[in-house]
Amino acid sequence: MSKQQNILVIGAGLCGSLLALRLGQRGYQVTVMEKRPDLRKVDISAGRSINLAFSNRGNKAMKMVGLEAKVKALCIPMNGRMIHDKEGNTYLSNYSGRDYEYINSISRGGLNALLLDEAEKHGNVNIHFNKKCKLIDFEKTTAQFYDYKSKTDFVEDADIIIATDGAGSVLRKNYYLGKKFLFSFSQDYLTHGYKELSILPTDTGDYKTYKNALHIWPRGDFMVIALPNLDGSFTVTLFLSYDEGEYNFNNLSTPKMVTEFFKKEFPDALALMPNLVDDFFDNPTAPLGTVKCSPWHYKGNTLLMGDSAHAIVPFYGQGMNASFEDVVEFDKVLEASKQPTNKQDWENIFKIYESNRKKDTDAIADLAVDNFHEMKDHVNNDLFREKRNLEMALEKNFPKAYSSKYSLVTFNEHIGYREAMLKGRAQDKAILNMLADHEIDLNGDLKHILDKIITETQEILNEDKIAGLK
Ligand SMILES: Cc1cc2nc3c(=O)[nH]c(=O)nc-3n(C[C@H](O)[C@H](O)[C@H](O)COP(=O)(O)OP(=O)(O)OC[C@H]3O[C@@H](n4cnc5c(N)ncnc54)[C@H](O)[C@@H]3O)c2cc1C
Repeated sequence: MSKQQNILVIGAGLCGSLLALRLGQRGYQVTVMEKRPDLRKVDISAGRSINLAFSNRGNKAMKMVGLEAKVKALCIPMNGRMIHDKEGNTYLSNYSGRDYEYINSISRGGLNALLLDEAEKHGNVNIHFNKKCKLIDFEKTTAQFYDYKSKTDFVEDADIIIATDGAGSVLRKNYYLGKKFLFSFSQDYLTHGYKELSILPTDTGDYKTYKNALHIWPRGDFMVIALPNLDGSFTVTLFLSYDEGEYNFNNLSTPKMVTEFFKKEFPDALALMPNLVDDFFDNPTAPLGTVKCSPWHYKGNTLLMGDSAHAIVPFYGQGMNASFEDVVEFDKVLEASKQPTNKQDWENIFKIYESNRKKDTDAIADLAVDNFHEMKDHVNNDLFREKRNLEMALEKNFPKAYSSKYSLVTFNEHIGYREAMLKGRAQDKAILNMLADHEIDLNGDLKHILDKIITETQEILNEDKIAGLK
């Protein structure tokens, strides 16, 4: 096996197109098969999350492939959460006390198109559209496809196959149904689903509300969020239970009920959304879930990457960022290995990659579920706000000494998600306990407060270590 041999990538979404680009840069012969038409030529609505929060871990991957500047041009900075209460009052809570730490809103289609363009600049990368993978024989390293244009099936042979075919992965299904090895798999749905809506630009193309924030209307059991687009619009997402509560996706069945729900719960958003009813009934309601599985690879033949290996709920804004970070981590293992020349070499690479990476994707999966509760509820809670304000002051005054859990996860791309989770959770526990027990005088000396938090956090981490959590 030489570098000239073929790597088959299944799925040209965000992860697959970045992976193809990186492997292309490394000189491998890469074939990519995507089931949908080319999004650069046909106007296919992404179907889900038209825009996404893009942050440091994703940017680390863009730096790796030399695309940081081009991606920046697609980004709208969001410095914090703009929280809207029922009376229409707003409150901006920055993501960090450090001015240079913020997240970005980016178009899924725009970013995907850029990655495809860049991947195709490499003569050794070939991307084919309208080819749906039906089956993967992970023993023979072959995949069967259906060509939507010619309406025929064909089989593709490869040296290795990497499946980046998203949350509903065919390879993962084949691992599970194949029953040829011990494959563990879990899928947990939230009771809530989501629906995309929109706030259109003004007649002059301006933003109808503040541009540089991620807007949240938290209402305890449900919420609405909005992220800005470059054209002056916002993509709005309603997260709501399917069947619980006074209003839910199952009973919001008439324009009158939808309008009544928004009038009661989100009056200021409704005022910006004359198109609400049309959007509500035109757009699908989709479920949200977490997928964990192991192993990600079969021998040195096949590998899962991105959402196919670890789909997560979107509340930390990290699914795409984590999938991009997968490519960085995989690339590091490739870099450190001698050039793979046989199946055993690939198996070693896949093994090292999974053992380095899985603990981190498990951690972000759990953090994302925690953040669901934080966003829809806790952001409205007084203790939580006190904690956020304190953390903001600590980050501002001691930029090198303190990072909140959110900062550790989102802006500290040099540490893994698991380390960020353990430290961040211990800090949260320390601060919330001390605030609840009035052990912190918020008007007192900030350095003294910082020292207390560091000591208490360390004690919690030591206890966790003894309890075997670390
Ligand atoms: C509502 C929502 C909001 C989100 N918000 C954020 C956010 O703010 N920030 C963030 O970082 N992440 C976010 N995410 C997560 C993010 O969308 C995913 O983590 C990311 O898209 C994963 O990339 P991927 O390439 O692994 O999978 P996908 O993007 O799903 O791409 C998979 C590709 O494979 C193709 N494919 C599927 N099956 C086949 C087949 N059988 N044959 C051939 N091709 C196939 C698909 O057409 C697609 O092009 C959000 C997700 C949702 C649902």
